[in-house]
Amino acid sequence: MVESDIETGQAHHQYKVLVRGVTKSFVEQAREVHALHDVNLHAMDAELVTVIGPSGCGKSTLFNIISGVESPGEGRVYINQVEATNTVGHVGYMPQKDLLLPWRSVLDNAILGMEVAGMKRASARERALPMLAEFGLEGFEHSYPHALSGGMRQRAAFLRTVLFQKDILLLDEPFGALDALTRATMQEWLLSVWEKLGTTIIFVTHDVDEAVLLSDRIYVMTARPGHVKLEIPIHLPRPRRYVMVTSPEFLDYKRTLLEALQEESARALGMTA
Ligand code: ADP
Ligand code: MG
Repeated sequence: MVESDIETGQAHHQYKVLVRGVTKSFVEQAREVHALHDVNLHAMDAELVTVIGPSGCGKSTLFNIISGVESPGEGRVYINQVEATNTVGHVGYMPQKDLLLPWRSVLDNAILGMEVAGMKRASARERALPMLAEFGLEGFEHSYPHALSGGMRQRAAFLRTVLFQKDILLLDEPFGALDALTRATMQEWLLSVWEKLGTTIIFVTHDVDEAVLLSDRIYVMTARPGHVKLEIPIHLPRPRRYVMVTSPEFLDYKRTLLEALQEESARALGMTA
């Protein structure tokens, strides 16, 4: 129903992102690596959707395909009801290794997207400055990335992504390198920013607590070739607080996810019976 709706231009559902039948292989030293197999998923308006799966299952590849920087072998990507396969510029994308430019100040790193889009540096700075406080970067606008903590660097990279001014954001393991306490603080902070922005977020993680705490829905992927094996709506109330991670409801979701993921990690390591 979904596909025929799209193809006839009669989409009834307000999908922000729709991924249909995406398959991807890489050829590495004459060997074929089957990274993604028939991936189907979607995200609705203002929804926060997480994709979780074992390392190497194709999560970053999936984001590269959704953002249009990589082409799928098969399948299609629709953004805002329009086919956008192989087309860049429709989403804000914070890649897994989103490095700040070391020779640019925090402020000038933040405005990179606006500059690329053709805005004058002075106007771009003017637009970015009032947002620094919200991102915990006030007073650091003229600092260089090396002078920032890990959490601040990630907030600066996230600000840069937000300033691309897209209503869909792809965040690839943004908190992966942070210590547990910083990570918990950043998760609550991200939720508060997301609620104010009203954007759709697709979030990649391999952290179960993070997935449950943040998400409206979670897609669990299999080991490579990555394929959606489970879709779990999370009905915990909002606003979410980190202390919720010990509630019985939270632990139920966590158990379901852990079971599904452990099976996949074992498979990825060739350790199944
Ligand atoms: P994840 O983000 O889930 O850890 P990736 O999407 O980074 O997984 O990678 C999925 C698989 O595809 C891995 O085996 C990886 O080595 C391979 N891969 C990713 N990008 C390329 C590429 N450009 N060339 C060759 N192989 C790649
Ligand atoms: Mg990755």
